[in-house]
Amino acid sequence: MTAALEATGLTRRFGGLAAVSDVSLALSVGELHAVIGPNGAGKSTLANLLSGELAPSGGAVRLGGQDVTGWPVWRRALGGIGRSFQKANILQELTVLENTRLAAQARGFTPGRWLRRAAREAGPVSEARAALARAGLGPWEDAVATTLSHGQLRLLEIAMALATGPRVLLLDEPLAGVGPEEGERLASLLKELSRDHALLLIEHDMDVVFAVADTLTVMVDGRVLERGPPARIRASAAVRDAYLGHAA
Ligand code: ADP
Ligand code: MG
Repeated sequence: MTAALEATGLTRRFGGLAAVSDVSLALSVGELHAVIGPNGAGKSTLANLLSGELAPSGGAVRLGGQDVTGWPVWRRALGGIGRSFQKANILQELTVLENTRLAAQARGFTPGRWLRRAAREAGPVSEARAALARAGLGPWEDAVATTLSHGQLRLLEIAMALATGPRVLLLDEPLAGVGPEEGERLASLLKELSRDHALLLIEHDMDVVFAVADTLTVMVDGRVLERGPPARIRASAAVRDAYLGHAA
């Protein structure tokens, strides 16, 4: 079976620093693939290389078997990559529905000032509403973003990533700043979304990761240290030393 998204030998240097070094990875629909690792391991850089925010210094990205390494973000978004950011892209003064419509319309463009007006005009309302329903935010579509709880903001980010109808979802710390109760709801949403998406989850919370991931990739210093099912990663002495030791 062709992977929905496949990275081969991805490398990205910033000056003398190899933030991502020779990372290969395959994402399939129906699989929740989590990437963990200490701060600075290169997780967000990897997501940026997959979505097209960053160009690699080496290696390739394939989307549905097609080489998209040279493609910009918007083209990969049209090709089926949806993504959320560690730093939220939500426009605070807009409503939940407006933000989601904007994301559907922007299709990978970072929403800018000129797009704020567009959000209030004609836009893909049906796609936006479908994404909000999936994220459980339907009843809040007219709420202004500033009035949302942390958990609802994270849900909105996911809805915005869903708004273009992606096959691949790249989620960078979607549970950041969320309490245990909302975290549990988010985790079960992620699990459910992984049934019909290829889902890459970057996440700090180990309890969540071990509960929902089918496959784990452990990154340290830009490299893949270990990969496998949760039980094996949990039992790995190398992972414990390199990462879980850090976290403790
Ligand atoms: P993580 O998401 O795992 O915490 P990042 O991918 O954000 O790690 O960062 C990996 C390394 O690359 C870090 O040392 C970080 O400082 C560096 N880095 C990330 N983005 C840039 C950038 N735009 N310019 C220079 N260095 C960067
Ligand atoms: Mg990060």
